[in-house]
Amino acid sequence: MALVHELSWSASRARSFTACPRRYYYLYYLSWQGWGRNADPDRRKAYLLKKMTRMPMLAGDIVHRAVAEYFARRDQGLPWSLDEATAWAVEQLRAGYKESRDGAWKAKPAKLVRLAEHHYGEERIDETSGAAGDYGKRYVERITACLKAFFEDPQLESARESQPGDWLACEEMSTFELFDTKVFAIPDFAYWDSTRGSGERGTVRILDWKTGRPADGDRFQLEIYAFYARDYWGVDPRSTTAADVYLLSGEVSEVQVSDDVLESALAQIESSIDEMRAVHFDADGSKGDPEDFPMVAEDRAGYECSGCNFRELCDRA
Ligand code: SF4
Repeated sequence: MALVHELSWSASRARSFTACPRRYYYLYYLSWQGWGRNADPDRRKAYLLKKMTRMPMLAGDIVHRAVAEYFARRDQGLPWSLDEATAWAVEQLRAGYKESRDGAWKAKPAKLVRLAEHHYGEERIDETSGAAGDYGKRYVERITACLKAFFEDPQLESARESQPGDWLACEEMSTFELFDTKVFAIPDFAYWDSTRGSGERGTVRILDWKTGRPADGDRFQLEIYAFYARDYWGVDPRSTTAADVYLLSGEVSEVQVSDDVLESALAQIESSIDEMRAVHFDADGSKGDPEDFPMVAEDRAGYECSGCNFRELCDRA
C-alpha cells in the first residue's frame, strides 16, 4: 500500500516545529518521497540529510537498544551482564562510526549510520589532529556510564527484575488518536510495578531513558504517555506513574498524573496540532513553499544552527 502524506503528531515533531519551522519543513515535507534513488533531487537531498545522526544521538540510540536487548534476552531466559552489554554497545558505536567515515552508509542510507559530523567535516571528528579520538572516547564513556546506571541503580531494580508477564511495552512505536490526528508514541519501557500501588498487580510505571541532560519538553512527553496508557492498556491515566530516568546523573524525575496534568497536556497538544495544521499541505502533491516555514530567529537564546542537519539547504548557513 502506497504511503500517504498526512499530518500526524508526536512530542518530537512538536519540538521540531517549535525549535525551527524551516527545519520542520525539511524534516516532514521536503524529505517526503525522497527515499527512492530516482526521487526528485531536492526531496532526495532532504531525505538523506534527515537520515543523518550525530554522535550524541547515536550513543543515546545504542543505549536504548542495549536496554531493549537486555529485556529481550531476559524474556528468553538469557542472562546478559553489564560487561557484556557494554562491550556490545561500544562495538555498535565503533561500527556505526566506521559506516559513516568509510561511506558504507551510501548502500543503505535508511539503515546504516551517517554522521553529520563527517558530512560537514567538523573539526571535532578530524582524525589527523587526534580530535576524533577524544570525541569518540567521550561517547564510549557516556555509553558505559549509562549502562552501569541501568544495571546497578537501585531505583531501577523493580524494572530490571520485573517479570515478562508484567511488561507492557518496550521501544515499540504505536499510534492513537487525539483531535482527529494520529499521535505517535514510543514508550521506552512500561510495566506493572508490583512494588507500588495497592492493586493486585501494582501500578503501571512508564520509564523514558535519557542519556543526556534534562531538556525542555521531557515532562510533556511523559504526560502524553498517560493518554497512551488509557488507549492501549485501558488504564486510568491517573493511576499511572511516568518517569524520566537520567542515566548519567541518576536522577529519576517522576510525574504523577492528575486531572490538572491531563487537562493541561490536552490543551497543549490541541494547540500544537492547530499550529501545525495551519501550515500543513499535501506533500504528495507538491514541495510547498519553504517561506511558509520561517527560520528560527538568529538571536533565539540557546539555539544554534551549527548542529542542524539541514544547514546545507538553508539560507541561514
Ligand atoms: S540551519 Fe538553522 S534556520 Fe536553517 S533549518 Fe537549520 S535550524 Fe533552521
